[in-house]
Amino acid sequence: MHANGTTRQLKVLYLAAEAYPLIKVGGLGDVAGSLPRAVRAVAHQETELPIDIDICLVLPFHGSIQRHGRSLRRLASYNLALPGGSLPVEVRETRLDEVPVYLLSGAPISQEAPVYSDDAGVDSYKYTYFSLAALELTRALAWTPDVVHANDWHTALALYAMRRGEEATFACSAGLLGVHNLPYMGDGSGAALRAFGLPPADDERLPRWARSTPLPLGLLAADHIVTVSPQYAREILTPEYGAGLDGFLAGRKDSIHGILNGIDTRQWNPASDIALAANYTAETLERRAANKATLLDEFGLQEGERLPLLAVVSRLEAQKGIDLLPPALEALAGEAWQLILLGSGSHELEEAMRQFAGRFPERARAALRFDSGLSRRLYAGADMLLLPSRYEPCGLSQMIAMRYGCLPVARAVGGLRDTIHDVHGSTGTGFLFAEATPQDFASAIRRALDAYQDAALWESMQRNAMAQDFSWERSAKEYIHLYLHASKEAKQKRRGSP
Ligand code: ADP
Repeated sequence: MHANGTTRQLKVLYLAAEAYPLIKVGGLGDVAGSLPRAVRAVAHQETELPIDIDICLVLPFHGSIQRHGRSLRRLASYNLALPGGSLPVEVRETRLDEVPVYLLSGAPISQEAPVYSDDAGVDSYKYTYFSLAALELTRALAWTPDVVHANDWHTALALYAMRRGEEATFACSAGLLGVHNLPYMGDGSGAALRAFGLPPADDERLPRWARSTPLPLGLLAADHIVTVSPQYAREILTPEYGAGLDGFLAGRKDSIHGILNGIDTRQWNPASDIALAANYTAETLERRAANKATLLDEFGLQEGERLPLLAVVSRLEAQKGIDLLPPALEALAGEAWQLILLGSGSHELEEAMRQFAGRFPERARAALRFDSGLSRRLYAGADMLLLPSRYEPCGLSQMIAMRYGCLPVARAVGGLRDTIHDVHGSTGTGFLFAEATPQDFASAIRRALDAYQDAALWESMQRNAMAQDFSWERSAKEYIHLYLHASKEAKQKRRGSP
């Protein structure tokens, strides 16, 4: 939040529960850590933009950020009014590159609690407080945003609160809601909403069960809804992927956009990744062999002549379709392949993976943990990454894999479908399959195993995969255009002037 005397500025308030590198639990952390910085950088480079963009990021001051010992300046404190009293809020300030970051603390943001707890009551109270306190921050700093960009259920209520009848401050601000994973809606938040004086929606368009649930309330209040891939934007309109809101969302179709996430191409770069035995580029692909040899050695697997190494790097949850892996690979037991799986998550799936690897002791290994270094070595040494997701709002791991020349075998769903081009002649960057069944998955793996035997085809696919632009700059430009459009539209709609 800073003033610039001459250039007109578009002020964007970006709200999230987590942002890398301050705090990361999942994909939202990657996005919230990268996008605001990319928006700011692109806005400063683009001379044709009619406006400068002043974007700031607001996060809860989670205990783990505090424990990382950053020296944080106290900026302000204020009170958040609620029925029958008020709650104090403290603001600390830091920066991610040029982007100001405001960290809010107060009683509901316990320093002991994890970012997401298993207790819906704790999280709903914390994030309702945070959403309202973040809005109040802009008033405390006399900085009225042109765009409020909330993300997922945790901050969706900021948009709902902005549109409450008596709220005049934000009348000309546009509200955008980023949807990273629709089924997580913030269920069980009714008591928190009451405590903070937010009544249920009385809008008939929302199903009754959704009227006091944060994400649906945000979807109702938002001027624009953005999913993290174009395909996911279409899928959430269908009963299969709409999590009970497909009918409501179909009515908001014209305000729903899909903008593909990027990856941090500096952080994920096989030419400079220090975790690898050998660095390489699309021009020096032969050096990948050293990474594969090191991996096989590390896991006690034999090297073989054109013997493909399959990898999995995934949370082990139902969404990821990992249960399809054992029957698909068992159906391909007669083919030559090796497998290293890296994953952690549900006990049931971890156990199933342990047993599966035990049935193929000469050629399969399961590393049941979270291990960033190993994930990098797998992207750089394995030949194929298996991604049988049941749904995938965007997915980052397939983009990382392609950047490292590891070709994805993936279900054609959500962002996987948008980012992977199925092999066609010598073009293509991976292998797609339609149905979440072991049969379909196995036939895509079989196609990949066959293609792998044609070294020239495989190399040309690797080069295609590595040549794609998955940088944040591309996404940031799309967001900037949406911010400009949404802000102009909000001002016209509410003030009757451009
Ligand atoms: P999601 O956010 O649904 O888990 P994404 O594909 O968007 O899926 O992001 C997953 C990210 O987490 C990728 O960067 C991937 O490399 C990483 N990852 C997933 N599981 C592990 C693991 N067990 N160890 C290390 N990194 C992992």
